[in-house]
Amino acid sequence: MRKKIVAGNWKLNNSLEESIKLAEEVSAIVEAEGNYGVDVVVCPTSVNLHAVSQKISDKIFAGAQNCYDKASGAYTGEVSAAMVKSVGATHVILGHSERREYFNEGNAFLAAKTDAVLAEGLTPLFCCGETLAQREAGIHFDFVKSQLTESLFHLPEDEFKKVVIAYEPIWAIGTGVTASSDQAQEMHKELRDHLASKYGQDVADEISILYGGSCKPANAEEIFSKADVDGGLIGGAALVARDFMDIVKAF
Ligand code: PEP
Repeated sequence: MRKKIVAGNWKLNNSLEESIKLAEEVSAIVEAEGNYGVDVVVCPTSVNLHAVSQKISDKIFAGAQNCYDKASGAYTGEVSAAMVKSVGATHVILGHSERREYFNEGNAFLAAKTDAVLAEGLTPLFCCGETLAQREAGIHFDFVKSQLTESLFHLPEDEFKKVVIAYEPIWAIGTGVTASSDQAQEMHKELRDHLASKYGQDVADEISILYGGSCKPANAEEIFSKADVDGGLIGGAALVARDFMDIVKAF
């Protein structure tokens, strides 16, 4: 059975103090209520990763929001997969639409980053998703499938099985507009079929596909009720511990 996963992407938010406070609040809820059978992951900015990973309950995980594909060298300002692992990350978000848009990250570069993350034994939370214009033009399925093909389909089956996919329609990220649960299910099914065409149905059925985009306590239950939705990547609502855990609880 595939894993249920809810990851909080804190983005460029929270000082050290605020990050620790939020980590402690999420941990306190998990200690009191359990994790509802969900892998709960919190992803602070890299400079706060060590402190957060030290503070969180051992029932939850810490993740990085990004890392570089190279292990070391003259790459000022970058952090490697081994570095984020050394400060406590078990997961790494890759290919978030904000990184694709503002930092020009393309599919080939993300393939190399995926390799780097897997080589360190970390779990890539690999993001994909279309713009509103692509959806309106009716090319959204092909576009998102090509993101997976070009960044992930070079992986051998045993490595591919370690990847978690996060479908995040760009028009729903931080906008307050969420995809309907039917739109999410339709895309997730399409993506799972695409994975099956390359790796077979058994492997495709093992891959967790998360939904992201304005997910909140009020809409999480409806979205998570869909057969091919295995969790969520949460932005804004992950900055409030109770909201984040109410999303987890919605499973
Ligand atoms: C995200 O950035 O991954 C995200 C889903 O953001 P939000 O929940 O704020 O739309």
